[in-house]
Amino acid sequence: MTLNRRQTLQLGSVALAALHPLATRAQASAPRVVASFSLLADMAQELAPVGVQVTALVGPNADAHVYEPSPADGKRLAQADLVLINGLGFEGWIERMVKVSGYRGTVAVASQGIRARTGGHHDTDPHAWQDLTLARRYATNISAAFTQRWPAQRDEIARRGADYLARIDGLDKQVREWLGAVPRAQRRVITSHDAFNYFGAAYGVDFLAPQGWNTHSEPSAAAVARLIRQIKKDGVRAIFIENISDPRLVERIAREGGVRIGGTLYSDALSKPDGPAPTYLRLIEHNARSLAAALQA
Ligand code: ZN
Repeated sequence: MTLNRRQTLQLGSVALAALHPLATRAQASAPRVVASFSLLADMAQELAPVGVQVTALVGPNADAHVYEPSPADGKRLAQADLVLINGLGFEGWIERMVKVSGYRGTVAVASQGIRARTGGHHDTDPHAWQDLTLARRYATNISAAFTQRWPAQRDEIARRGADYLARIDGLDKQVREWLGAVPRAQRRVITSHDAFNYFGAAYGVDFLAPQGWNTHSEPSAAAVARLIRQIKKDGVRAIFIENISDPRLVERIAREGGVRIGGTLYSDALSKPDGPAPTYLRLIEHNARSLAAALQA
C-alpha cells in the first residue's frame, strides 16, 4: 500500500485514537484488524504497527462462548485486512461467519502451536491466555501474522513484540511471587465457569467450577450440591464471581457452602476502560492479586 502525505497524516490521527485499548472509531483509510474478542484486540493493539486500527467482535464483559454475530459485525469482518482468533474451538461461530461475510483474507490463530488441555468431557479447553507463558506464544503468533501482512513494518513490529514479551515475562515473575506467598494447601477456589485451568496449572492453584468449559448450559442441581459438599470437605478458601457470568449462582453456592466471595475474576473478557482489567496484562495482574489476597486471608 502506497500512502500519500495526506493519508499518512490521517494514519497519525488514527494512532492517537488507537491509544484507547479498544478503539472502535471507523477510519476509512486505516488498515483494519478485527479480533474475535477483547483480550486479543488488546494484544493486537500492543503489537500492531502504528496506524493499524484494531476492533473486537466480542467486547468488554461480554461472553464469546454465546456470541451471535450481527449483520453489522459481518460487514466489519468483510472489510478487515486481517482477522485474529484464539482458536482451540473458542470461537465456534467464526467459520460460518467468515463464509457468510465473504472475507477472503487470512484468519490468524493466536494459539497456533499450543497444546490444548483436555479433561473429563474430552473437550478442548480454549482458555490458554490465562497462562502468561502461553501468552508469549500468542504474542509471537500475532506478530508473525502482522509481519506477513505488513512486511514493510517488519522492524517496528519486531520492536513492539520484544517490548511486549518483556512485559509478559515481568508480570509472570510477579504472579509467581504473589501466589508463591500463599501456602499451597490454601490455594483452592471456586469460579462459575471452568476458565482457569491453564492459570491453575501454571501457578499452582486448584480451581473448581460448577459450569464446565463453556457457558452454554446451567449446571445441574446435583453438580451444585456436589460442589457445596466439596467446599465443606476440602476447605475451599474463597469463591469468585466472573465478569462474564451471572453472579447469582456463585452467591448461592457461597451462602450454602458457607464460603466467602473473594471478588471478581476476569476470565474471557476485559473490563470497560475505567474498570480494573482494561488490558490483557492488567487483567492477569488483577486476577492474580485478587486470588493471592483472598487465599491468604
Ligand atoms: Zn470461557
